[in-house]
Amino acid sequence: MAIDATSPYDHANIFAKILRGEIPNRTVYEDEWALAFHDINPAAPTHILIIPKGAYVSWEDFSARGSDAEIAGFVRAIGHVARSHDLVTPGYRLLANVGGHGGQEVPHLHVHLFGGRPLGPMLAR
Ligand code: 5GP
Repeated sequence: MAIDATSPYDHANIFAKILRGEIPNRTVYEDEWALAFHDINPAAPTHILIIPKGAYVSWEDFSARGSDAEIAGFVRAIGHVARSHDLVTPGYRLLANVGGHGGQEVPHLHVHLFGGRPLGPMLAR
């Protein structure tokens, strides 16, 4: 079920539990601002989720309330993960689902990083 991106932050969501270390994950990168880990159900040879450490429901919430340092740190972490996985030359895709029409399922902002093969058209038509 897609979530409502305007809901208050739910500290029991699965990515909050991952950030607190209550649920295992396959971490590929972590810094002060972000955690990156493999998606449990990969849709491409490389499918990594990058999440901010702060409690933000969605891109909407983060872009409205996140500090400049949090936003800069998160964006730089995404770039770092792509570079460290040698995805820049072949290319890759970033995706952030937001709310109902976006199909967002986990109510903690996450950016999907896909790579490792040609990814096809942007959206199903
Ligand atoms: P959304 O549809 O919200 O953009 O994407 C949520 C993503 O989180 C999905 O791709 C799903 O496979 C992934 N996911 C859901 N639960 C877990 C989990 O417990 N661990 C990991 N690593 N990924 C998860």
